[in-house]
Amino acid sequence: MANKKNKHSRRQFFSKTVPVAIGTIGGVGLVAQSCQQANNDEEKISLLSADGQLVEVNKSALTKVPYKPVPPDEARKGIPGKHFVMVVDLARCRNARKCVKSCDHHHQLTPDRPFIKVLRMQDNKTSAPYWMPKKCFHCDNPPCVKVCPVGATYKRSDGLVLIDNERCIGCRFCMAACPYSARVFNWGEPKHQDGDRPYSPETSIPSQVGTVEKCDFCPDMLRQNKVPHCITACPNGALYFGDRNADSVTNGSETVRLSTLLKDKAGYRYHEELGTEPNVYYLPPVDRSFPFKEAPEGQPS
Ligand code: SF4
Repeated sequence: MANKKNKHSRRQFFSKTVPVAIGTIGGVGLVAQSCQQANNDEEKISLLSADGQLVEVNKSALTKVPYKPVPPDEARKGIPGKHFVMVVDLARCRNARKCVKSCDHHHQLTPDRPFIKVLRMQDNKTSAPYWMPKKCFHCDNPPCVKVCPVGATYKRSDGLVLIDNERCIGCRFCMAACPYSARVFNWGEPKHQDGDRPYSPETSIPSQVGTVEKCDFCPDMLRQNKVPHCITACPNGALYFGDRNADSVTNGSETVRLSTLLKDKAGYRYHEELGTEPNVYYLPPVDRSFPFKEAPEGQPS
């Protein structure tokens, strides 16, 4: 069942599936101090070595390297060799809103400017409604980037579209250019939960009043070999994340080939005809895992 999530496999997803130096995708993360053969009595972890071999090591051999926020100049470079994508299985979304809560918490957002919206959709009067989580699609041909007059928003080599809020002048041209209404404007005083934490476009915090914000695909998590917060928060396995170059995505409990998933389940991209080349795919809401339930009164839908 999708809700029996394997936290262990989530944490080590990139280590298991991407042929990189042991335990890292961005030079930071879990590092195996030695590759001694796993002892039978200890908890094991499978990692890919730099030469592509799957090795099993004792968990105690791993050292967690603390994450340091990447400065704005460094954040303009992508993680080499990667192209990140997300897949949203609409048949599994039941508007649990755990993705929204987790995202709001980790990005210190107030409820009036969420990065993820869960929309109530109904294609026509006779078809059944369904829930559709929507966020920035990290387009490969992003109109938002083209209109920014100061280069505050940019496209990285690993597919991510980010915003440097220290450069953003709040003109909101990017908000007008985005055909998906994925961006929000920070009108109010931001929460500063982390005191003196230095700003990084890879964490989007501390946020700054008078600037534009949006989903960033949690690049700080990606640098630690982890998937974005929303993926691990979903109790229904509706959200997959992974690397298009490795043809692999995970929802935490299962890791699958991206190409097979999209082919078998007729994956599509929202408003493909716009030519924006989104990096978020949807799987149609067929054979739904749950009966549709309306949102409780007062909840935005
Ligand atoms: Fe830009 Fe909108 Fe595409 Fe995100 S969804 S990359 S904000 S155009």
